[in-house]
Amino acid sequence: MLGRLIRRVANLEAAIAESTAQRRELHNQLVELRGNIRVFSRVKPHPASALTLGGDGASVRLFAEGKDQGFTFDRVFGPQSTQAEVFQEVSELVQSALDGFKVCLFSYGQTGAGKTHTMQGSKGPDAQGIIPRAILKILDEVERLKEQGWVYELEASFIEVYNETFKDLLADGKGRDAGKITDQNAVKHGVAGGHTQVAGATTVRITTTDAAAALVRKAAQARACEATAMNAVSSRSHSVFMLNITGRHAASATTLRGALNLVDLAGSERLNRSQAEGQRQKEACSINKSLSSLGDVFAALASKSAHVPYRNSKLTHLLQPCLGGSGKTLMFVNVNPEAPSLQETLCSLRFAAKVNSCETAARGGAKRHVERAGCEAPSSSAATAQVTLHSIPSLSKHASLAGLYM
Ligand code: ADP
Ligand code: MG
Repeated sequence: MLGRLIRRVANLEAAIAESTAQRRELHNQLVELRGNIRVFSRVKPHPASALTLGGDGASVRLFAEGKDQGFTFDRVFGPQSTQAEVFQEVSELVQSALDGFKVCLFSYGQTGAGKTHTMQGSKGPDAQGIIPRAILKILDEVERLKEQGWVYELEASFIEVYNETFKDLLADGKGRDAGKITDQNAVKHGVAGGHTQVAGATTVRITTTDAAAALVRKAAQARACEATAMNAVSSRSHSVFMLNITGRHAASATTLRGALNLVDLAGSERLNRSQAEGQRQKEACSINKSLSSLGDVFAALASKSAHVPYRNSKLTHLLQPCLGGSGKTLMFVNVNPEAPSLQETLCSLRFAAKVNSCETAARGGAKRHVERAGCEAPSSSAATAQVTLHSIPSLSKHASLAGLYM
């Protein structure tokens, strides 16, 4: 009786493991079909919009420089789109990070166009942006996967890139230099089996949503926000929420190492419009440099150039594992549809079109970061492994175990 029950439980566990593996595989096929570098545009609400949205949900038109111009992206979110709808479209990439991929989401656009609204959002369940929603989804999934024997570790950092220098937004202390990271070689790839870290930056283990919320709040307070002629709270720096995800499955001795980077870029407006002077001018130059480096990286990827200039800016170097063919990238191009912003909007849409042209070049190349130790499965899970093996007779022992959890 007991023996039969144990066998039945083992069979059921094996079936779950098999469907989890199939789910991962199908999920990845879906994401790859859509391309590993994708571009979405989001249009901010405005009573007198100078933009026309296409009925296909993927195009936008504007009249600028004496002619009618159209742009098509993977998706265009109109002014009525909610934070929940936006997250729905990106949640599959959050899933990919849990499955062991290096994932990066950017919000790009001129100051005031809605970058921080999209990434961070504001208080209240409806107003929350991608960062809090992603954390919530990941914690939910981690809880669910526990039942299947997966143990996940989530380690977060919050980094700012300002004037080509990293700053730890989770560092204690106040003042200009708090959290400043002076080490020029602070970016470390391949740490702890395949994660990226900024040496000297605080890392926080995330186990609850409350802890995550406290971390995000602390980082928001620390962000360097200074006034320019454009917007009193203009952000003159890039912020990167980095989440390193490690999933371990003892029964199959499998380890997944994914990452989710959520990047709120500095304003993309050109120098003259923000009337920057002195220190502001230096900031504006380094912002332009890192944003144009980002554009150069995408251009090199699109043309399949042998050399991709990741090292030309701190931001692209940090995000290198996500940007190349082996990672997954999504860029939100936020635009302000009011008439005075048309020229900036045109620049943003052109930048987006350049990124969009990489889609085909990078398609199909993403790599999941999986490691399989040669160690024996613990005895308590041996029955699961055994039954699983019988359920896929065509595969070798090693391959079948690996296939189940990838
Ligand atoms: P950025 O970070 O690009 O400078 P913000 O995200 O701070 O811009 O947006 C500027 C203002 O516009 C904020 O008050 C924000 O709440 C509002 N806003 C931006 N996008 C939207 C949107 N899609 N729906 C409603 N309000 C928005
Ligand atoms: Mg902002």
